[in-house]
Amino acid sequence: MLGARSPSKWHAALDKDPVLIAGGGIGGVTTALALAQRQIPVILFEQAQEFSDVGAGIQLSPNCSRVLRSLGLSQELADQGFLPQYTQFRHWHNGKIISETSLGKAAEQAFGAPYYHFHRSDLLNLLVDAAKTHPLIQLNLGCRIDSIEQSEDGVSVLVNKATYSGGCLIGADGIHSKVRETLFGSASPTFTGNVAWRALVPTSSLPKGLIQPAATAWWGPGKHFVHYYVRGGTMVNCVCVVESNDWQEESWSIKGDFTALAAEFADWHPTINTLLANVDKGGLFKWGLFDRPPLPQWSVGKITLLGDACHPTLPFMAQGAAMAIEDAAVIAKCLHQTENPTAAFLQYEKLRKKRTAMIQQLSRRNAKVFHLKGIAAWARNRAAKRAGGSTMNKLYGYDALSVVINSKKAGQKVKEQSKEDQRKTNERAN
Ligand SMILES: Cc1cc2nc3c(=O)[nH]c(=O)nc-3n(C[C@H](O)[C@H](O)[C@H](O)COP(=O)(O)OP(=O)(O)OC[C@H]3O[C@@H](n4cnc5c(N)ncnc54)[C@H](O)[C@@H]3O)c2cc1C
Repeated sequence: MLGARSPSKWHAALDKDPVLIAGGGIGGVTTALALAQRQIPVILFEQAQEFSDVGAGIQLSPNCSRVLRSLGLSQELADQGFLPQYTQFRHWHNGKIISETSLGKAAEQAFGAPYYHFHRSDLLNLLVDAAKTHPLIQLNLGCRIDSIEQSEDGVSVLVNKATYSGGCLIGADGIHSKVRETLFGSASPTFTGNVAWRALVPTSSLPKGLIQPAATAWWGPGKHFVHYYVRGGTMVNCVCVVESNDWQEESWSIKGDFTALAAEFADWHPTINTLLANVDKGGLFKWGLFDRPPLPQWSVGKITLLGDACHPTLPFMAQGAAMAIEDAAVIAKCLHQTENPTAAFLQYEKLRKKRTAMIQQLSRRNAKVFHLKGIAAWARNRAAKRAGGSTMNKLYGYDALSVVINSKKAGQKVKEQSKEDQRKTNERAN
């Protein structure tokens, strides 16, 4: 399934020193596939006893479906993904369409890859199934990385009291990242003042035609409501975001109280209330939305970060997993082209920092824009109508597969950094 390329001198060395990956979420498993496709062996550690993802739905925009298709997964994506025909924003109360942009075939033509809606477990299973069958990937479940050491030769990690060694380590271990904490200390993420309920509604329980085959976001004062089809249109995934100042739970994800959710949206459009009346109450989760500012530095020597571990992204552009998937494509390319993992990681960081910071910032801004009230909301709606789908080019047109790697420059940068480190050490010694 995954295409093979001839291994270079560097990969022969990596054969003895595989790339270690912390975390088996969408970011970690996609990275394993992208590396293995370039003949780079991987050992992945996932702390959970099985691969799973919280929440029900995920939107996959063309910038990331392009990467997944390049991993040989086109058929699986087409078989299991739902192809929305458009994206639309609606008024919370009267239901009027504020703006609408075509997706479906039009998006595929414009961006060279489709826009899909997925059930999260279908997506993760599809990735894990591909990883399980690849001889260069070793997946280890129930394996939490407890400590990390870096030396001249590589990196070793302590997992369930056993030590594993590799040439380098990629921390794809989510917003609570142990790898990040090891590299840069333990600052806690900040609660954004938004809580998301995540729920599924069986389509068979809804009046025919109530929900269109679209990614729909309803904008209201202090709240918004997103819905779209998953599982071939048999389920509607709902994400209901509400501003709230008191998130006191220790866990970020708890069983949601249906009565509280229904009360939040009681005065909203009848479509929203019909959806809520049919929610699968057993599968209702409440989720505090947390955030971190962009990191000034991602890598230290042979260790780097990827996905939410590096740049956690609020869900208001549906781009967090997309950024992790783009990261996977770029990091694989950097490790394939550059002999030294330190140089490869510096290149990767340089290529990805600006884009991920921009998406983090735009997503944070949307948290405010979606929830405006009064005259500000009216002005926003007029602007949205005029803008149409103009931000889509910036988001979906990005091609992580064709970023240019300049390994000579990377080598130079590593030398400069080593000199600087040496200078600081001498300074401290004097
Ligand atoms: C409500 C909501 C809706 C969203 N919708 C979208 C969307 O439509 N489209 C989109 O692109 N993004 C969306 N996102 C964002 C997306 O879910 C995340 O950005 C993405 O899942 C991050 O993937 P990841 O692999 O980096 O991290 P994670 O999914 O957090 O995976 C990290 C993994 O590492 C494991 N782990 C942690 N510590 C260790 C350790 N020490 N050792 C071993 N394993 C460890 C964890 O168990 C976990 O499996 C949404 C987010 C939210 C909250």
